[in-house]
Amino acid sequence: MRKTYPIDRFQSLQTPLYYYDVDLLKNTLGIINDEINKHNNFIVHYAIKANANPALLRIISNAGLGADCVSGGEISIACQTGFEPSKIVFAGVGKSDWEINLALDKGIYCFNVESMAELEVINMLANKKNTVARVALRINPDVDAHTHANITTGLAENKFGISLTDMNDVVKSAMKMDCIEFIGLHFHIGSQIQDMSVFKSLCERINEIISCFEKAGIIISDINVGGGLGIDYDNPEENCIPDFKAYFDTYSTYLNIGSNKRVHFELGRAVVGQCGTLITKTLYIKKGTNKQFLIVDAGMTDLIRPALYHAYHKIENISGGGPKELYDVVGPICESSDVFGKDILLNKTMRNDLIAIKSAGAYGEIMASQYNCRSIPKGYLSCDF
Ligand code: PLP
Repeated sequence: MRKTYPIDRFQSLQTPLYYYDVDLLKNTLGIINDEINKHNNFIVHYAIKANANPALLRIISNAGLGADCVSGGEISIACQTGFEPSKIVFAGVGKSDWEINLALDKGIYCFNVESMAELEVINMLANKKNTVARVALRINPDVDAHTHANITTGLAENKFGISLTDMNDVVKSAMKMDCIEFIGLHFHIGSQIQDMSVFKSLCERINEIISCFEKAGIIISDINVGGGLGIDYDNPEENCIPDFKAYFDTYSTYLNIGSNKRVHFELGRAVVGQCGTLITKTLYIKKGTNKQFLIVDAGMTDLIRPALYHAYHKIENISGGGPKELYDVVGPICESSDVFGKDILLNKTMRNDLIAIKSAGAYGEIMASQYNCRSIPKGYLSCDF
């Protein structure tokens, strides 16, 4: 079904802007909760990195999700917007001392630790505070996510996690440290994964790892499988909610969970991706030698995914317009990569027509920059209109 937008209201607002469909977000959260309630001990932590708009965070925390944070700033905003510290997990390859101290002071659920050096620092800082840090070790499982190279994280060549070769030593060290409580393992192999067989392969690798530890008498109570579930960028209206049933069923079928393990998920894109649209205004139509350019007031500073990953976002002229024509939709930034789409078929577009760039709720507003001294776009919720 085609989405309707409050076009008259947009005309009176400064563009570009992000528009969030709150009903869609709430429906998505409702389905996530329905699905995880079917499985014992499944806990979803929303990956704040996908979108940290405070109004959206409040809706997500109200739905009962935990938070997956990758910085002290994310821990602070998670706490300010209602996420319970006991449902916060903290990942990242380079945690600074102040960030570790903040996480210890807030009493978060656990640190996802990425190296031996980091483990030693957390132990030392927890000791200074006379406390104990719960820790899951992030293992690099060497599983191919078959997604874009820049969003693949679980291959041996990536910087993330502890290698399969080193993991035994690090686990043994963690268990000996006075101020570390080792609770489990963390994995995250990449993002925008739509093929469930990739998650099945991850489950199989996790089963092998856990069985080795359990044979050695090491108890793993928590398995964090990361995030990565993709969304349908090609058909955002038809598939506005990802197939959460297939996703959670894959883990419940293939992961050897037993009765006493907690399984944590860190979903970002799948939660917020489809509820956000970047609304931009047409500035000029420029005829090139072989093509025509539709120059809009949004640029790669507002939505960097096309420039960074050659990502596709569906584009629509929501002001109406005439018969279809082909355009390269480009922004005003002084970079050749500032292109939202090439050879896009749109209704004939005029100056001031509003253009919707869809599926922009994840890794959109949060990645906006001020390059070219531009302003950061504002985010509006559908319920505010
Ligand atoms: N967990 C970790 C450790 C990540 O690095 C990421 C994304 O990069 C996520 C979760 C969220 O991934 P996604 O938005 O694909 O669900």
